[in-house]
Amino acid sequence: MSQHVYDAAIVGAGPIGIELAVAMHKAGIDYVHFDAKQIGYTVSWYAPQTRFFSSNERIAIAGVPLITPEQGKATREQYLAYLRSVVEQFDLTINTYEPVTDLVRRDGYFDLATHTSAGSRQWRARNVALCTGGTDRPRMLGVPGEDLPHVSHYFRDPHEYFRKRVLIVGGRNSAVEAALRCHHAGARVTLSYRRPQLVEQGIKYWLMPELRSLMNTGRIQSYFGSCVTHISPAGARLRLTDGTEFEVAADFLLLLTGYEQDMTLLRNAGVELSGPCLAPRYDPTTMQTNIPGLYVAGTAIGGTQERYTIFIENCHEHVEKIMRSMFHVESERHVVVADTAEMPES
Ligand SMILES: Cc1cc2nc3c(=O)[nH]c(=O)nc-3n(C[C@H](O)[C@H](O)[C@H](O)COP(=O)(O)OP(=O)(O)OC[C@H]3O[C@@H](n4cnc5c(N)ncnc54)[C@H](O)[C@@H]3O)c2cc1C
Repeated sequence: MSQHVYDAAIVGAGPIGIELAVAMHKAGIDYVHFDAKQIGYTVSWYAPQTRFFSSNERIAIAGVPLITPEQGKATREQYLAYLRSVVEQFDLTINTYEPVTDLVRRDGYFDLATHTSAGSRQWRARNVALCTGGTDRPRMLGVPGEDLPHVSHYFRDPHEYFRKRVLIVGGRNSAVEAALRCHHAGARVTLSYRRPQLVEQGIKYWLMPELRSLMNTGRIQSYFGSCVTHISPAGARLRLTDGTEFEVAADFLLLLTGYEQDMTLLRNAGVELSGPCLAPRYDPTTMQTNIPGLYVAGTAIGGTQERYTIFIENCHEHVEKIMRSMFHVESERHVVVADTAEMPES
């Protein structure tokens, strides 16, 4: 029996993968869509009630208004509910919990291997869009003790740290926000950052005055210009730039030092990776990589971003470009083009 050949396969069901799926669905394209986890997986690992920095109209997708009850910026929960409602509204079929484990171009087609709880599956498509994001795994410090059970690279729920000593490592939005939220949840917070000070223009502007005040009054202890050299069950050893080393006692450590892209699929498919972020090479007018028929969209275009400049709000146009290049279809433009310089780093 000959294998069905789809017009396109979409890999990744974050906001941009879903937006692309709606465009293909509306255009009557025969496509198949996968996510390794549930839809919106990257957003799902934000801490509960984290609020987006972007305004709602900038992160709304596919022309579906994102409306919040209090007209404020959406929270994690509101945005995940919104993504579900978009999938429901267009009745999109997404093969969730089905990671694409291999991707090769053969005889003018792409062969994709996926994995499910029932075993492996094979798929074939003429075109592929990788919307796989850029935050697949934490950036490790590479110090002894980093794998101990009281150490986490994800900030999930401040309640876990009530009346506990928490050492938070990092100095960008994630670390600053975690420090404030843990403090308000009754934790004793210490902040360690490798730079001599916080880079304030990259941080959500409403967080800084409060953090500064808490650090100035010693309610949040901070060590700038400090690096973790060793983690033990009792805490961590920090080294200052002048070489001084000392121990900080901690019940929990949150290492919020960023995330890295998994480049396996890009590499397997033969996509060239370039620059310090190992970003995939693509034509910015079409989003097509150096492999004909293989496209990238969303934050996947940035590789492992050192400083976050690619967000949902400046990725919507990828959908239009891909629809035009893959299928000569003009899809509707729904979104405001954002001023990326306003965005803080995660
Ligand atoms: C705390 C926090 C706050 C943020 N605030 C904002 C904000 O205000 N505004 C903003 O624009 N952005 C914000 N971001 C960043 C935002 O989450 C990303 O910009 C957004 O999720 C990128 O969307 P995407 O569709 O490109 O990729 P992602 O949302 O990362 O989706 C990628 C998807 O691909 C799937 N995938 C990966 N590999 C495979 C594979 N091999 N097979 C199948 N599926 C795969 C993943 O499971 C995932 O669901 C924030 C991030 C954090 C952590």
